[in-house]
Amino acid sequence: MGLMKKAKNIIQNIKNRFAEVNLITKITLICAVIMVLVALWMVLFYKPVHNAVFHPESHTIVAVKSGDTLSKLLSEQGFTPQDIDTIAKKLKAEAGFSTLRADSDKIDFIKPSPNEPISKIVIINGPWHQVELSCAQPGDWLCQSIDIERDTRITYHSGEILDGDSFYLAGQRAGIPAGILIDVYDLLAFEMDFERDVRAGQKFSVVYEENYASNKKIDNGHVIAISFEALRGNVKMYRFKKSDGTVGYYDEMGNGAIKSLKRTPINNAKVTSSFSSRRKHPVLGFTRAHKGVDFRAPTGTPIPSAGAGRVIARGYNRGHGNFVKIRHNATFETLYAHMSRFAKGVNVGTAVRQGQVIGYAGSTGLSTGPHLHYEVIKNGHHVNPLTVKLPAIDNLNATNKKAFIEYRKKLDVVVDDLSANPDKVIRLDSLNADNIPESK
Ligand SMILES: [Zn+2]
Repeated sequence: MGLMKKAKNIIQNIKNRFAEVNLITKITLICAVIMVLVALWMVLFYKPVHNAVFHPESHTIVAVKSGDTLSKLLSEQGFTPQDIDTIAKKLKAEAGFSTLRADSDKIDFIKPSPNEPISKIVIINGPWHQVELSCAQPGDWLCQSIDIERDTRITYHSGEILDGDSFYLAGQRAGIPAGILIDVYDLLAFEMDFERDVRAGQKFSVVYEENYASNKKIDNGHVIAISFEALRGNVKMYRFKKSDGTVGYYDEMGNGAIKSLKRTPINNAKVTSSFSSRRKHPVLGFTRAHKGVDFRAPTGTPIPSAGAGRVIARGYNRGHGNFVKIRHNATFETLYAHMSRFAKGVNVGTAVRQGQVIGYAGSTGLSTGPHLHYEVIKNGHHVNPLTVKLPAIDNLNATNKKAFIEYRKKLDVVVDDLSANPDKVIRLDSLNADNIPESK
């Protein structure tokens, strides 16, 4: 009770004093009180980092699924047929955009606040591109195609093959992402045979691109360089952009690393029987030359062509079962046997690319189980695919070679730096811009 009385006294006191002061002082005092109250309110309720408290933008993000169309998705958000027509026309005319890609594109419908109509539509197609539609006034939309700025950094990983290891396991342990390892495999398969050339103690390193946007890692880019201590000597490959803008992989001296043929058409397939001029045939029982190499491959494994060329035979015989034969150039032919079936559209006369699937592994013909029997024929004679000297698809001319050597020296310095300081951020464009291969 004493407290209430005290408070009353204080208020009475203030009232009395307030009555005594003049008008100007009164106004000043009232203003001061209001300002203090506003300041107090701001301190308590105003959050500068999240000023959306006043205007909470509302986002509805829709992932495009198979069967979705732009008009279906817009109509689900309440757009009228006229709006949809206007938006579709605008997108086509100003962003060259016509169809959504299922399972990859997303659409963000943005309202200034939950109770207002949608004022912005962002079509996110991939991590590096989006199209923004902003409503200028009802029925009028502004369209903008935006490329997200890509900051490409150079990443380095190194590892060592341990006892009983595969290159894949060692690569994973070294921290190389699966997608990059597959690319590395594809490239090394031109130069080495993983079954015979990989031994414990071998060291390797891989340099590749990591793409960032606003300091956030988005995805991996290309393999920039590979080094592998193979049995037959160090295998080194560098990605390089030539003066005509085309990109290729080259060894230290600028010779093309991409060979006319792959030694092992199916990546990472185990060799189950090697090339020999004499061996006991597993089915026929008598000694006969094995004119190719057998790779373990479950039935149905896609068989890629070892090189670019033209199909010169496709058929069946008792020994080879279903087989395809390809002529690559005046010197080389390859043959693939025991296929369970041929790839669609692969006929005698068909031109094939390197890596194009020509058929699927099986066990047709004289075969003890599903595998790929692969033959390389050089000038009409069977040769060992794993050891034959293979020509490069393209070697650099004198001008490009000079530029390549300069680029390679710079890259080697960067790689040395990264191997000592793995966390250092080095941007791809810090190397000579003229010779930097462009990102994907
Ligand atoms: Zn065989």
